[in-house]
Amino acid sequence: MPTPSDKVYRVKQSREEMLRKKRDGMKRWRAENPEASKARTKKNHIKHRDEIIARVTGWVKANPERTATTQRKCHLMQKYGITPDEWSAIFASQGRRCAICRTPNPHGKRKSWDTDHCHSTGKVRGILCHPCNMMIGGAKDNPETLRLAVNYLMLNP
Ligand SMILES: [Zn+2]
Repeated sequence: MPTPSDKVYRVKQSREEMLRKKRDGMKRWRAENPEASKARTKKNHIKHRDEIIARVTGWVKANPERTATTQRKCHLMQKYGITPDEWSAIFASQGRRCAICRTPNPHGKRKSWDTDHCHSTGKVRGILCHPCNMMIGGAKDNPETLRLAVNYLMLNP
């Protein structure tokens, strides 16, 4: 004989089943009507703009670590086309030190490592400390300028 708790469980199960079917139906509709779906989403965003902003702002304030992780992930992908794991693999291959001067300290105001990339191909060359990144940036990434600077310093110790 079913107990009251069995009934509660069945009601909960059928509610979850109903919600799942509704979600699946909406997912199918969105896949079959991409333009209408976009228009509906846009209309909904306009209608509930303030609530959405308040909800997102609240979530961001309540989850600072996850927000920072997501921002870093987006920044690395948008600017350098790499994931945080790929960044970590590059840094690990450098022994977790600057690829030029080998310091374990990133220096600079932000105390974070600079991701050096080729400005014409966009390819990540390595992870640098801030002073080294400034140095090659100051030389406009030109190896000849840096060789001339070495000669200058050797001749004028
Ligand atoms: Zn360095």
